[in-house]
Formats: sequence, structure tokens, C-alpha cells
Amino acid sequence: MTEIGFIGLGNMGGPMVRNLIGAGHAVTAYDLAPGKLAAAVGDGARAAASVAEAAAGEAVITMLPAGPEVRAVFTGDGGVLHAARPGALLIDCSTIDLDTARAVARAAAEAGHEMLDAPVSGGMAGAEAGTLTFMVGGTEAAFARARPILEAMGRTIIHAGAAGAGQAVKMCNQLMLAVSMIGVGEAFTLARKVGLDPAVMYDVCSTATSRSWALTDYCPEPGILETAPSSRGYPAGFTAAMMLKDLRLVRAAAEGAGADAELAAHAAQLYERYCAAGHGASDFSGIIRMIKGEV
Ligand code: NAD
Repeated sequence: MTEIGFIGLGNMGGPMVRNLIGAGHAVTAYDLAPGKLAAAVGDGARAAASVAEAAAGEAVITMLPAGPEVRAVFTGDGGVLHAARPGALLIDCSTIDLDTARAVARAAAEAGHEMLDAPVSGGMAGAEAGTLTFMVGGTEAAFARARPILEAMGRTIIHAGAAGAGQAVKMCNQLMLAVSMIGVGEAFTLARKVGLDPAVMYDVCSTATSRSWALTDYCPEPGILETAPSSRGYPAGFTAAMMLKDLRLVRAAAEGAGADAELAAHAAQLYERYCAAGHGASDFSGIIRMIKGEV
């Protein structure tokens, strides 16, 4: 059992806390939103009144929206770096920009703490089921300490390299996911226009060279996979706004590194248009509706 402080109890953090408690850890939770905090208390967490109070445990986990929130929660007045006990293990599971991840990890080391960036893949369903994939950046020693904690929330826990490497992998994953989701959307749009039955197309392509997670696990064409958001009106699993946020992180990283990422830039433009048309809160697979001209 580890005493864990958990900050950020949203769509992902809430179920992650439930799984930590289910695995026997003692969780002290904090969120700016009182309703989220109350829900975590209902799941068996102890309520903290501030970031500092939540940061007093042996380990501190954060699951926050983006880089600015992570910077504020760690390095701000009364932040985690000031409040954590010496040698505490700090794990940020948010998806954030590389520069912030590296800067906060450096500040944590200077303050005497071990810190990991450990963004996740698997969405809200993975968070609920405890089957997330964690991609982790930081030292071997910190990774070894974190592994039993992360195993309570995930199935695949991978050490990707030094500080920032977890965010770097996550970014590359999001680049491929966005491009493949748009590709699948374009293919089903074309298939319909040339008179193909979408079900036939699925049967062929799900076993052919175009097979991808976007097709076989999350097909954006309605009526193919019962469990996919497309068959239920595109309620978010993973919102289009979050995909756009991630593509902006990709763009910043590619520019910073001098890497050519033209398709990612184009995917970002399409998600910008989809979100600007008022669909940011719907599932990211719903972009097929814009490709089809339905929205
Ligand atoms: P969310 O907006 O549902 O939750 C974020 C929570 O952080 C909110 O409850 C908010 O009140 C809280 N918060 C914000 N600032 C705070 C502060 N200063 N102190 C305390 N609490 C604060 O977001 P989410 O969907 O849970 O996503 C969290 C992170 O996980 C994001 O970086 C996202 O990109 C990433 N992610 C999300 C998914 C997904 O499917 N939702 C999948 C993979 C990764």
C-alpha cells in the first residue's frame, strides 16, 4: 500500500483513483471542482483542501488538462514541489508539451524529488477498466518505484527513456492516430460515393494492409462496430478538442526539432475546422461527418 496524492479528478483522473483504491492504495485527492472531489470521496478517497495537502504522500500523481496547469500545480506557490516530502515520487500523467515536461522534471530534481512523465493511451474506457498504456520518461530507479502504482491503473507500462520521453511517444502516437482516423473517414466517404457497402469494405480492410486501430477498434462509420462512438451519435470517448490540443503539441515539437510533419499539420487544420464548427466536445472520430459534408 502506498500513500498517494492525486490531483486532477476529471474524466481520466476519477476512474484512475477508483482503480488505485481498488488495488489497496490510500489516496488523498484534490481537484478545483468540488463535484469531482466529492465523487472521489464517494469512491473512498480522502479529500484534500489544497494541492499542498494532496502532495504530502509518498507519491503524487497529476492528471491535468495541459502544460500551464501542470506548471502551476508543480511550481506555483503552495505547489507540489514545495509541499512534497523529501524524496517523494512525482508522476505526471497529463498529456503536455515537451518543454514543460522537461522543465518541471528539472525543477523537481533540483527540489530533491524523482519525477516521471507518464502520459497514457486508452481513453476513458481504459481508465475505467484499468487497462491504460503508460509511456514513461525518467530514470530507471524512478520507473521501478512507479511500476507497482501504475500497474493498478494500466496493463502496459513502458519505460520510453529519459525525462520527456513519455510525452514524446504520446505525441507520435497521436500524430499517427489523427492521420489514420482521417484516412479511414475519407475511405468510407469515398466507398459510399462509389457504391460500396461499408460493411463489405470493413470486412475486407480489417484483414488487409489498411488495418488500423482507427478502423478495427473505433470505426468512425456508424453501424459497423456496436461499441464505437460512431454507432451512438459520437459521444466523446476522446474529444475532438483534445485531439486538436495534441496535434498542436505535435506541431510545436516538430517545429522545435526541425522535423517534417506535413500530414500532422493538415490533420490539425481539419480538427481546427471541425472544432470551430462547434463539434469540439464530440468524439474525435466524428470528423468523418465533416468529411462527408454532413456537418
Ligand atoms: P478533464 O478536463 O476531464 O480533467 C482535468 C481535471 O483537472 C478537471 O477536473 C479540472 O477541474 C482539474 N484541474 C484543472 N486545473 C487544476 C488545478 N490547478 N488544480 C486541481 N485540479 C485542476 O480532462 P481528462 O479528460 O481527465 O484529461 C486529463 C489529461 O489526460 C489531459 O492532458 C488529456 O489530454 C489526457 N488524456 C485524456 C484522455 C481522454 O480520453 N479523456 C485520453 C488520454 C489522455
